[in-house]
Amino acid sequence: MDISRIVVLGAGVSGLTTALLLSKNPSNKITVTAKHMPGDYDIEYCSPWAGANYFPVGAEDSAVGKWERETWPYLQDLAQNFPEAGIQFQDTVVYNRLKDKESITGRWFAELTKPEPWYRSVVPNVPKYELKDSIDSANRFTSVCINTAVYLPWLVGQCRKNGVEFKRAIFTHVTDAADSHMSGKRADIVINCTGLSSRTLGGVWDSTLSPARGQIVVVQNDPGNMQTISGTDDADDEITYLMARASGGGTILGGSLQKNNWDPLPDPNLAIRIMKRCVELCPNLVEKGQGIEGLNIIRHSVGLRPLRHDGPRVEKEKINEVLVVHNYGHGGYGYQTSYGCATDVMRIVELVLQHNEKAKL
Ligand code: FAD
Repeated sequence: MDISRIVVLGAGVSGLTTALLLSKNPSNKITVTAKHMPGDYDIEYCSPWAGANYFPVGAEDSAVGKWERETWPYLQDLAQNFPEAGIQFQDTVVYNRLKDKESITGRWFAELTKPEPWYRSVVPNVPKYELKDSIDSANRFTSVCINTAVYLPWLVGQCRKNGVEFKRAIFTHVTDAADSHMSGKRADIVINCTGLSSRTLGGVWDSTLSPARGQIVVVQNDPGNMQTISGTDDADDEITYLMARASGGGTILGGSLQKNNWDPLPDPNLAIRIMKRCVELCPNLVEKGQGIEGLNIIRHSVGLRPLRHDGPRVEKEKINEVLVVHNYGHGGYGYQTSYGCATDVMRIVELVLQHNEKAKL
């Protein structure tokens, strides 16, 4: 059996899912190396801050739409059969207001809120007569909520079971990672899963990446279902959503999509607006007659989504004679595209390795 040495640079949801799928082939010997690992909370590490849920936002015939479609069966299987992964099903309602059409959040959720969305096979529309006057339409479907504090370590465990090694390191150039394979020998391939840091990582320097700041409040209160709405009357780049994490993970109240905003600290005024809007959208969140004083706050958090102008980059590139396969730039949909993107990386890796084998003959 020919052995392939692979280094996965990055231990967020993109790196871990890629390592997991690649590790199913026993001839792949994989080292995951990263500055941050599951258990860390840092503004340079997006994955722990996510809700996270499955809200399709890619157009049906787009790459993002394809990755979202391919990812759903994996998340469904995990929610159904692997309670230890920290993923649970949630009844979901997505409300749409026509007046949000041109706002930042309205454009972000354009596919999600469409009256005839491509994911409709599981989505009956809520009839209009059930809606408040301020709402123009709604989609109701079953989605999942991922407790990232459980799910990321679960991914590490699954990788370890398949022999993947983990190593802390910081790199200034992407090709330096080729020398960090646990075997001590140079890796055949480096998979670049560095998220927003691909903006400054040597050899990649992707200036089309920018942060889309997301602020959330985690509370004890249970909303009963998952809800979101296309926009707010407070600001173009603020949004309202609620989702309950599995296994005692609390409820995430969101949020914002603040482009080019690098501020790592929670804004207290925004936190109050988020809580007010969530209680207004979902009065069940608190006792009858209560406002935000009825919320039991666990923490306030901020994460920076790695937004890329042309969408996620999943492709190969030779840099200083090192073969690099990129998988970064997943914006606000890194979980819901994770298995689709990792599958494409796996296909690229297989083709490259086959080609290398043939070249040796
Ligand atoms: P990251 O998680 O940022 O990981 C990058 C990795 O690379 C880290 O391990 C880091 O240490 C390592 N690294 C970087 N540079 C270097 C270097 N030079 N040397 C060594 N290591 C390095 N997505 C969804 O699908 N659904 C949601 O509901 C959702 N909600 C979100 C809510 C919020 C508030 C936020 C902030 C994000 C949300 N997202 C959601 C988006 C999702 O979290 C991201 O798309 C995803 O986490 C990106 O993961 P990643 O692995 O690509 O990057």
